[in-house]
Amino acid sequence: AVPVAIVSGMSSCARRGVLVKDGRALEQLAQAHTLFFDKTGTLTSGRARLVAIESDPAFGPDEVLRLAASLDQACKHVLAEAVVSAARERGLCLSLPTRVEEAAGAGVRGIVQGQAIVVGNFPFVSETAPTLPAWVPAFLRRLGFDGVTGVFVSVEGRICGGLQFADEIRPDTPRALRLLRKAGVTRITMLTGDHREVAETFGAVLGVDALCAEQKPADKLAAIEATRAAGRIVIMVGDGVNDAPALQAADVGVAMGARGVAAASEAADVVLLVDRLDRLADALLIAIRARRIAV
Ligand code: ADP
Ligand code: MG
Repeated sequence: AVPVAIVSGMSSCARRGVLVKDGRALEQLAQAHTLFFDKTGTLTSGRARLVAIESDPAFGPDEVLRLAASLDQACKHVLAEAVVSAARERGLCLSLPTRVEEAAGAGVRGIVQGQAIVVGNFPFVSETAPTLPAWVPAFLRRLGFDGVTGVFVSVEGRICGGLQFADEIRPDTPRALRLLRKAGVTRITMLTGDHREVAETFGAVLGVDALCAEQKPADKLAAIEATRAAGRIVIMVGDGVNDAPALQAADVGVAMGARGVAAASEAADVVLLVDRLDRLADALLIAIRARRIAV
């Protein structure tokens, strides 16, 4: 049977909007000192604003945005939502994409009006569009400044433009990290599918102990497995499809349930039902107290 103190800890968490799926998860929360965080949509709000467009003159900024948004209509990624709403705000008329293949944490491929379109981060798009237009190096150098991240767009194997989005650290993230450290967390690592430059800027501002950028879902999973194999109890926090394998593999997977995808909440042991990261720190303190009484 689950000890009464653990059950009561689970209900205290629930009152704060933290769903702990079982007693084991609460006990592990109390014992973990190693934390992994996804970036976009987890440490940041993921409500990115479009701040600049670079485009090949043959297309122009509106057509670059329209093609990207047409494809991103089929995706649930937070940046995909930002691309679509930027296009809607400009009154652009989107086309329905076909043969859409999403590569979680990297981008998406598909056909729009008979043309092969790829949208996503630089490593992903340049894989199938190796020739770089003259504006690309300067575009890449701007990534990271003011929290700007980049989404590249290629048409028929040629990069035709890039979109810059500004994302923000959640207002409660710095406090959450401070409280987690006070509660005994000794190592915080950021695992992100985003570009290295962007990861380093956010990582420095937040004071994380380590970061891994341009991570595919399998890379995030491998990071969790290696740390567990070294004997640590691991918490992983994420919101996306690309986080699901890592959430599943962690001792405690924590999903951003309020805006994250269902696949993340399903893979997780703990779901934050409110869109606030500081509630995770509350849950950790509750878990530590409950475990002290229970054992
Ligand atoms: P994180 O792991 O920090 O949550 P993601 O892996 O979700 O970050 O996203 C990383 C990068 O992948 C983004 O910066 C973006 O360039 C690109 N990306 C992934 N999916 C899409 C998409 N559907 N539309 C546009 N860009 C995408
Ligand atoms: Mg994310």
